[in-house]
Amino acid sequence: MAQILKGAPVAAALRERTRAEAEELAKAGTVPGLAIIRVGERPDDVSYENGACRRAESVGVAVFKFTLPEDASEQELADVIDTVNESPQIHGALLLRPLPSHMDEEALVNRLAPEKDVDGITDGSLTGVFTGKTSGFAPCTAQACMEILDYYGVDCTGKRAVVVGRSLVVGRPLAMLLLHRNATVTVCHTRTEELSQRMREGEIVIAAAGRREMFGRECFSAQQIVLDVGIHFTEDGRMCGDVITAEAEEVVQAVTPVPGGVGAVTTAVLMSHVVEAAKRSRKQTRLGCTPCVSHDKNRY
Ligand code: NAP
Repeated sequence: MAQILKGAPVAAALRERTRAEAEELAKAGTVPGLAIIRVGERPDDVSYENGACRRAESVGVAVFKFTLPEDASEQELADVIDTVNESPQIHGALLLRPLPSHMDEEALVNRLAPEKDVDGITDGSLTGVFTGKTSGFAPCTAQACMEILDYYGVDCTGKRAVVVGRSLVVGRPLAMLLLHRNATVTVCHTRTEELSQRMREGEIVIAAAGRREMFGRECFSAQQIVLDVGIHFTEDGRMCGDVITAEAEEVVQAVTPVPGGVGAVTTAVLMSHVVEAAKRSRKQTRLGCTPCVSHDKNRY
């Protein structure tokens, strides 16, 4: 039977590191600060916000909440984002999405200063992921997969990695992170031919197609490390992933569970990004740099 790569110990180790770093920063006079920007009262958003607040508190990150009504104007949200960009107490921001349909989400997302984009949603952050430079941050789910590989001692160098999914939130950035670790990466999508064959060839397989329990034993082979990014619910309320875990378990070397796998690590990654943003900001201040906010304030 396969080893089950649980997310909880990965998240706990990361939180411990983050807490220690936040404490050091606080001693030196910088309390890492996270802004959570929410428009409207969607239950998913409120619940995510509450969870993030609890996590932040537990690692010593201060939270600044900005809540706007569902019918807020683009200008009002733009003003909030500008406030966040300019606040020296705020080092990272979480903009809960999707934004209401009357808002130009792409323009508003990219108004956020990349150095505060701890959720990896701006073009600036994605540029950093692709170039390997430290502008912005990788999307938390993609980074969570790397944290799991690291924690369980999976060395990516020279390995064949197969990523199923090419979204900007998961598949593509993750392919780049694996490439930076010297894996040989294949990215699969809806036009990929012989998908199960491609997947069987991987030594590291990431299932991020967003298709409920699509990948059964025919997609796997022995010695594989499988990370299941999918989050779904069955009709009877059971949570599951893209992988039929019970079938994968019979074949592969190791697999992440759902729930309790990748999803359990993402908030811990978010907090580690806030602390890293605070560290970078201190370094910049010491060097006498001021943040470069390049957006056009008269856009709205
Ligand atoms: P997405 O935007 O819908 O992208 C899905 C990707 O998978 C697309 O690139 C698509 O290919 C590909 N795909 C879909 N069906 C396929 C098939 N039958 N064969 C091969 N490729 C296929 O989804 P996402 O935002 O990346 O999210 C993926 C999954 O991760 C979802 O289940 C989501 O709920 C979950 N998720 C989990 C976390 C977490 O913390 N664990 C966070 C975010 C998302 P095309 O490009 O050709 O359409």
